[in-house]
Amino acid sequence: MTVQAIHKRASLAQSNARRDAAHFINGTFTAGSTNRGWDNHCPVDNSVIGFVPEGGKVEIDQAVSAARAALEGPWGRMSVVERTDLLGAVADEITRRFDEFLEAESLDTGKPMSLASHIDIPRGAANFKMFTDIAKTISTECFQTPTVDGTGAINYGVRRPKGVIAVISPWNLPLLLMTWKVGPALALGNTVVVKPSEETPLTATLLGEVMNKVGIPKGVYNVVHGFGPNSAGEFLTQHPDVNGITFTGETRTGEAIMRQAALGLRQVSFELGGKNPAIVFADADLDKAIEGTTRSVFSNTGQVCLGTERIYVQRPIFDEFVCRLKQAAETLRLGRPEDPNTNLGPLVSLEHREKVLSFYRKAVEEGATVITGGSIPEMPEDLAAGAWVQPTIWTGLPDHAAAVNEEIFGPCCHIRPFDTEEEAVSVANSTRYGLAAAIWTESLSRAHRVASRMEVGICWVNSWFLRDLRTAFGGSKTSGIGREGGVHSLEFYTELSNVCIKL
Ligand code: NAD
Repeated sequence: MTVQAIHKRASLAQSNARRDAAHFINGTFTAGSTNRGWDNHCPVDNSVIGFVPEGGKVEIDQAVSAARAALEGPWGRMSVVERTDLLGAVADEITRRFDEFLEAESLDTGKPMSLASHIDIPRGAANFKMFTDIAKTISTECFQTPTVDGTGAINYGVRRPKGVIAVISPWNLPLLLMTWKVGPALALGNTVVVKPSEETPLTATLLGEVMNKVGIPKGVYNVVHGFGPNSAGEFLTQHPDVNGITFTGETRTGEAIMRQAALGLRQVSFELGGKNPAIVFADADLDKAIEGTTRSVFSNTGQVCLGTERIYVQRPIFDEFVCRLKQAAETLRLGRPEDPNTNLGPLVSLEHREKVLSFYRKAVEEGATVITGGSIPEMPEDLAAGAWVQPTIWTGLPDHAAAVNEEIFGPCCHIRPFDTEEEAVSVANSTRYGLAAAIWTESLSRAHRVASRMEVGICWVNSWFLRDLRTAFGGSKTSGIGREGGVHSLEFYTELSNVCIKL
């Protein structure tokens, strides 16, 4: 995007900044019946940007009923071609209203528009386009089965939509991660009730307008705002008429949702937290490793589930690596989302900043050497109330330290030296998480060898966040349950029945 385009978007954001959210139930926007809600704060300066209604059992009941009716009505009767044509139109409409989505996402999260315009919003549209292709090319297995009378039988699989899907999404990449679930769910014939994060209600609401504009039947896409426990999130995941629950968020929340999903034995698909390692071997191309690791640690102010929070560097290049990553971190510019020179926005909220700062303090207590950062930066007066935090690098922590084992979800990392490949693999695999890893090496055989030993769902070699949406995506250990993406999404979003025909 050009600098002029970013400035145009910036003025758009400033001229029309207040946004109230609404539930979107059965094709209609509504404030709901609870008379409860909360002020939505922009983390850039903590200003109030709008009001969000809190949904209760009534709204969840209405949304699930609407989703069920749509499944049994026009949506359920549509051919896959009609359905996917409509979803292609959703993608086109997101692209047409790109500026509005960009503005909404930046208001909610404070993330730089230069980032959201390259990643969040285009991926929001791509998530609809990609799964329409998959839905049109579903194949199932077929067996010719011998029988004792010699006539034989044919067995073949039929995939049907799973039904009403509950989508519980987080705040770090709100549109991207929500549509990553809604795209395949709808393409494969399901209907959805979305409970977006309480921190980021706007793009899910805006998507309701898009659904109506392109003619998606009412009840297919529903949004109910609220919190988790004893609020819309819990009511939705406990609802007896929900057939499957897909969730992205913290591992602890996943445990709570799994308990809720046990009522009625609903299937779950979970994309959870991570404490992702990067391993930098002495034979790595150091320029590329520094560039890639700078992105993997600090992008989106460290609020990326796939981001790197632990770096293991082979001893001969350790000092140089630390020095160069420090230089890279110190050139990152914190600033307003609309400023094209901004590299980092604030954290999503003051509450989340308090969590990140508690790790900053704990790391020092546990013996860290602070290479750079470690506290709240000085910001201009108009931004001082925002959720700003310094990009931070530590060395010297013991392997059992909290900052080396717990997900922090901030712009920070710990760097530790290693000597042998065996040691690197062992420490990289040493946490309870298993989401992603990055390996930096110029040796092809080492790359294959080490990648195959990483206990993670996705392992990058000499890159980071290079995503092909057809590939399996998910986490191992406590980082997730199941895989989504490409044909792997079929496993969760459809029921596979076998048909046996005696000839
Ligand atoms: P979170 O778990 O706090 O909240 C996620 C969603 O769950 C929110 O909508 C919240 O309201 C809802 N929720 C909370 N308690 C609930 C309950 N008991 N029942 C139903 N819903 C409930 O996560 P977050 O802070 O929004 O997001 C950050 C986390 O998400 C990090 O741990 C990050 O690693 C993870 N994440 C993982 C992936 C992945 O692909 N694996 C991607 C992005 C983020």
